[in-house]
Amino acid sequence: MDAAIPYISNLQRFSLDDGPGIRTTVFLKGCNLHCAWCHNPECMVAGATLQFIEASCTACGKCVSVCPQNVHTITEDGCHLLDRTRCIACGKCAYHCPHTALNLIGTLYQPEDLLQQILKDQKYYETSGGGVTFSGGEPMLHPAYLAQMLHMCREAGLHTAVDTAGCVPFSSFEAVLPWTNLFLYDIKLWDEGRHRAATGVSNRRILENLDTLTRAGADVYIRTPVIPSFNDDPETFRQIASFLASLPGRDHIRLIQLLPYHSYGVGKYASMGQSSRTAELQPPPEAFMQQALQLYLDLDLPAQIS
Ligand code: SF4
Ligand code: SF4
Repeated sequence: MDAAIPYISNLQRFSLDDGPGIRTTVFLKGCNLHCAWCHNPECMVAGATLQFIEASCTACGKCVSVCPQNVHTITEDGCHLLDRTRCIACGKCAYHCPHTALNLIGTLYQPEDLLQQILKDQKYYETSGGGVTFSGGEPMLHPAYLAQMLHMCREAGLHTAVDTAGCVPFSSFEAVLPWTNLFLYDIKLWDEGRHRAATGVSNRRILENLDTLTRAGADVYIRTPVIPSFNDDPETFRQIASFLASLPGRDHIRLIQLLPYHSYGVGKYASMGQSSRTAELQPPPEAFMQQALQLYLDLDLPAQIS
C-alpha cells in the first residue's frame, strides 16, 4: 500500500545550508515542536494553509466574491480583514487574486512526481557533492512516505539527508535509516524544563534517539540555533558539548553547527496570521558565539559557526 502523502510547502533549489554541496531541500508540513524562534511557521500545521501578503493587496475585492466561506472582508476604508477560522483551504481566492497577495501553501506530490522535481538539478548535485534534504516541519512525522522518497532518491544515485528535531519514536528512524546518508539533528537546549518551555516538548527522547542513532552508525550533523534569551548561556553549551563528547557513537558526529539567530522568518508570521515570539530579538554577539564554539573545540568536537 502506498504511504499517505504529506503536504509540501516548498521545494528550495540550490540550497547551500542543509548539508554538503548544492541541494534541493523539500519542506514537509507538520511539526510536533513549536519552537519560539521557528523560521518556517508555514510548516507548523500539516494541512494546506493560506498566506496573505498585505503589501501586495490592492483591495480589489476579487477574493471576497469567490470565497465560499466569507473569509475575506474589505472595509469601507480599504482595509482587508480575514476570518481564518472559517477557511477550508480550497484555494479559490489564491487562484483568482490578480496580485498574488494570496497563496495556498501546501502541495501534494505523488512520489514519482516529487522525484522528477528533485532530479532537475542532478548535475549540480554531482558536481558539488550535494543531493537532496528532507526538512520541515518535522519530516519524520511521515516515516512511510519519507522512506519511500529516500529509497527512490538513493536508487537514482542521490546523496540523501533528513533534517529532524528527533522527537519521534525510534522506529521512525529505523524506517528511514537504510536510505539516509546523513541526519541533520537539532539539539536546542540541555535543561529539560527550559526545552519544554521553548519548544513545547521534553528533550529526553531527542537525546536518547541521538545516542541510539549514532550507536547504530548513522552519520549526523548536530545543529544548535543560538537564540538570545532562550539558550545563550555558557552552561547550556557546556552541557551539550559534554553530552556529545560522551556518546559512544561520537565518531559519527561529522559536524556540529552553531547557528546564530537571525530574524529572516519573522515577516512570515503576519502573512500566516500568526504572531512571532522573537520579533524583537537581535543576533547573539560574536564574542558569545566564539565562547560557545570553544567549549566544543576543547573537547575535540568538530564544531563550527555556520
Ligand atoms: S483578490 Fe488579492 S488583491 Fe484583490 S482584495 Fe483579494 S487579496 Fe487583495
Ligand atoms: S482558501 Fe478557500 S475558504 Fe480559504 S479564504 Fe480562500 S477561498 Fe476562502
